[in-house]
Amino acid sequence: MAFGSNVLSSNASFDPYWWRAAPHEQKQPVAAPSRTDVAIVGSGITGLVAAIHLARGGRQVTVFEAKEPGHGASTRNAGYVGRTLKHGFGEIMEKEGLDKAKAVYGELMDAFVAVKDTVEQEDIQCHYKQQGRLLLATSTTMYDAMAREFALREKHLGESFATVDRAGQHDEISTDHYFGGVKIEDHAGLHPGLYHQGLLDAARDAGVVICAFTPVLGFRKEAEGFTVFVKGAKVQARDVIVATNGYGGREWPWLQRRIMPFHAYQTVSAPLGENRVKSLLPGGRTYIDWNFNVDWMREAPGDPTRIIFGGLTGEIDADLRVMAERLHLRLLRVFPDLADLQFDHMWTGKCAGTFDINPKIGCHDGIHYAGGYCFAGVPMGTLFGQKLAKRILGQSGGESVFDSEPPTKFFYRGNAWFVPHAIKWLSRGDR
Ligand SMILES: Cc1cc2nc3c(=O)[nH]c(=O)nc-3n(C[C@H](O)[C@H](O)[C@H](O)COP(=O)(O)OP(=O)(O)OC[C@H]3O[C@@H](n4cnc5c(N)ncnc54)[C@H](O)[C@@H]3O)c2cc1C
Repeated sequence: MAFGSNVLSSNASFDPYWWRAAPHEQKQPVAAPSRTDVAIVGSGITGLVAAIHLARGGRQVTVFEAKEPGHGASTRNAGYVGRTLKHGFGEIMEKEGLDKAKAVYGELMDAFVAVKDTVEQEDIQCHYKQQGRLLLATSTTMYDAMAREFALREKHLGESFATVDRAGQHDEISTDHYFGGVKIEDHAGLHPGLYHQGLLDAARDAGVVICAFTPVLGFRKEAEGFTVFVKGAKVQARDVIVATNGYGGREWPWLQRRIMPFHAYQTVSAPLGENRVKSLLPGGRTYIDWNFNVDWMREAPGDPTRIIFGGLTGEIDADLRVMAERLHLRLLRVFPDLADLQFDHMWTGKCAGTFDINPKIGCHDGIHYAGGYCFAGVPMGTLFGQKLAKRILGQSGGESVFDSEPPTKFFYRGNAWFVPHAIKWLSRGDR
């Protein structure tokens, strides 16, 4: 299929589909206060969860957001809630020992539980559902490797799974493209726009001041606390949290040298009809392959007539129409019958990675930060937001196995031009 064909519907939007149910606020900016106990940069999951817990712990909290609340990846993602890390349990066990592997994957479980608890405690209506995930193999070698990895997790972590062979996969997904996979029954999915909206409401209810359209330009350390330079004002803050993940920049060059932003792309189909979606994805799971550079798909939460499809992580193309064509071609490999499919939404968002491909939480020069989630920011951002708050409140539970300084490279100043090449290199084992 040539580029330029009609994969986008006539009224297609380049905004995330999630913004339909949770429209972004375009309110007048709230004036920045001259003082605050805690200044938080970024109004995504990480920043808001930290803000809620700090405010409930008695701190006066101000969240500064460069654009509208939730502008970043927190309202652009796929809503997969699992225990995801690019380093497998077996790999960590081999390199760093069983105890380390258990500690790392134990924290992934804490993050997974943190989302469930947050949704329940804040009563967030965001279609949270433990619908199970099917991880799909793109070769027989991969299928065998997956079975070995998940057997280790079952043995050492007690996390159950089931292998699904190539014939059996048709009960879950109507394709021969994959070579079977692994099913994890308790993994969840949610609607990212509504999850974020629920956090924003909870933060405001707790008394957090949200200063949208107020970019932070930099910080100066003072004898006590910090001066935070925001557009048009200076704010005195006792503590500062930077929660900018893939959207940060020159406001903090130290972090900018350690975090690599990269794009990922996502679409939602025009309505296909409930029966057609059911016939494509009869298992009703969240689906993702086990490649380094993943494709993923699921029924749209709250609308069983549409499917969500995403991928092309790390690719750069300013023209989302071209990326829509490319995603469609990838989708056709899975479902050749969808040649007539059109997308109603096509959008992108920025993820962030670190040079050791681990999420990070820490404190440098007195400034707290968390990020570099490599695609797992829904659970990890929720957990790290809680941990950042505990650290500032002096409560136990703020420690993390991911608390180590993110490495940098001598040449890296924040222009991650090499990420698409690095992802291609790291994906060389994908089939
Ligand atoms: C297409 C896509 C699919 C994904 N799918 C999943 C998934 O299924 N599951 C999962 O767990 N993760 C997924 N992720 C990753 C996940 O969305 C992110 O890791 C997570 O949302 C990061 O949250 P955050 O709060 O740390 O940062 P963000 O939500 O990105 O928020 C950072 C905010 O900081 C603001 N900001 C930046 N600089 C400044 C400044 N100087 N002053 C003020 N504000 C500033 C930005 O405007 C932005 O709003 C996906 C990401 C993408 C792009």
